[in-house]
Amino acid sequence: MRLSRYFLPVLKETPAEAQIVSHRLMLRAGMIKQSAAGIYSWLPLGFKVLRKIENIVHEEQMRAGHIPIQMPTIQSADLWRESGRYEAYGDEMLRIKDRGGRDMLFTPTAEELVTDIFRSHVSSYKDLPLTLYQIQWKFRDEVRPRFGVMRGREFYMKDGYNFDLTKEDALHAYNRHLVSYLRTYERMGLQAIPMRADSGPIGGDDTHEFLVLADTGESEVFYDSAVTDLTFGDREINYDDVAQCAGVMEEFTTKYARTDETHDEALFNEVPEERRRVARGIEVGQIFYFGTKYSDAMGATVQGPDGKPVPVHMGSHGIGVSRLLGAIIEASHDDNGIIWPEGVTPFHAGIVNLKQGDEEADAACEALEAALEAAGLEPLYDDRKERAGGKFATMDLIGLPWRITVGPRGLKNGVVELTSRRTGESEELPPEAAVAKLVEIYKDHMVKGL
Ligand code: ATP
Ligand code: MG
Repeated sequence: MRLSRYFLPVLKETPAEAQIVSHRLMLRAGMIKQSAAGIYSWLPLGFKVLRKIENIVHEEQMRAGHIPIQMPTIQSADLWRESGRYEAYGDEMLRIKDRGGRDMLFTPTAEELVTDIFRSHVSSYKDLPLTLYQIQWKFRDEVRPRFGVMRGREFYMKDGYNFDLTKEDALHAYNRHLVSYLRTYERMGLQAIPMRADSGPIGGDDTHEFLVLADTGESEVFYDSAVTDLTFGDREINYDDVAQCAGVMEEFTTKYARTDETHDEALFNEVPEERRRVARGIEVGQIFYFGTKYSDAMGATVQGPDGKPVPVHMGSHGIGVSRLLGAIIEASHDDNGIIWPEGVTPFHAGIVNLKQGDEEADAACEALEAALEAAGLEPLYDDRKERAGGKFATMDLIGLPWRITVGPRGLKNGVVELTSRRTGESEELPPEAAVAKLVEIYKDHMVKGL
């Protein structure tokens, strides 16, 4: 992509309305534009990162054996009356009437709809286990939308639902989700810690939230610092292996880590004092097992092995896809701007031409651009007639992890400069070597998605 042809409306001034750094940087980098309180348009750069995150979520969900579907954003109130949540949900639900006067709503979550799909099409235990998920816009009329995409009213969420014959099977689905979430967040360059949480209006006993530690987080968290030493890494997982998933679950959830809702001071005090941490965190996901709550209310049964109908055991599992952009930036930025982890960066590398219009420099930049594209990478070539300082500032602001700087002086010696956004370190190397190095860096970060 050539910057001169792209749409990147960066702001010079720091927007006064933004209270936290991720919100400020998303506005300054031209990623989003607010259209109403808590409702945003996604401009090209923001949209690209949103898609990257979405694609990682798809890949990891499908790897775990979960099946993507898409459900409508506007739903009939009737289904929600069956579960009792039409009344119970309260003011967070955006209620709409159609021209026939029928009560409709904009989906804040989709347990009812997916349960209806299930009961219409699945009748035998032989079709279980089944986990359906979608990535879809949600609307919750939050009292205080704030912090940009972090707490929007309209937001993008992955919501998945498991259907199982027994509680035991459903707990395996729970563990499988936990494992797949650990992998998902790590691919995005994030450490998200599973913490025992409160189930809220969804109901149920077993639930964990995934929190990214950040001073600007809305949740107060209490944990044993040993949990931050745990990493998922590149271990091989067989998602059908009940014992293996349970083992990972145990490894990541037995040390003390709780949100304020479930915090237990006495238990916390059993953690050695030097490892006790009280901090703040951003909730980027949550998993629930809630048993037969919805299947009882909505008659979602299957014929069991003995021929008798049994209500299915369910759980639901969410990832805050749009909130993740804010969480990643909170976790990864400096005074000059965003620093994207390789897994989610909107472009793999920036190309900065120090002397636009110089025949040799232009040709070298174009050749680099073509070579990166041929290797399956997406460069952003700053081909504007601007001062080098301005070009560097833009690249730093938008946070591409790697920058290739091309100028007549280096070209005389046959080299360009490859700079890491994270460390600021540069090395001079021939253009082909720079391309080869980037290919190597990104080989484990290529995202296909659906
Ligand atoms: P919160 O406690 O932050 O209001 P929640 O527990 O009500 O969130 P869930 O129903 O668990 O939210 O939704 C799944 C995920 O969707 C959350 O973990 C969060 O990452 C994201 N999410 C929830 N509400 C919002 C929102 N208003 N804006 C952006 N993302 C959200
Ligand atoms: Mg939650």
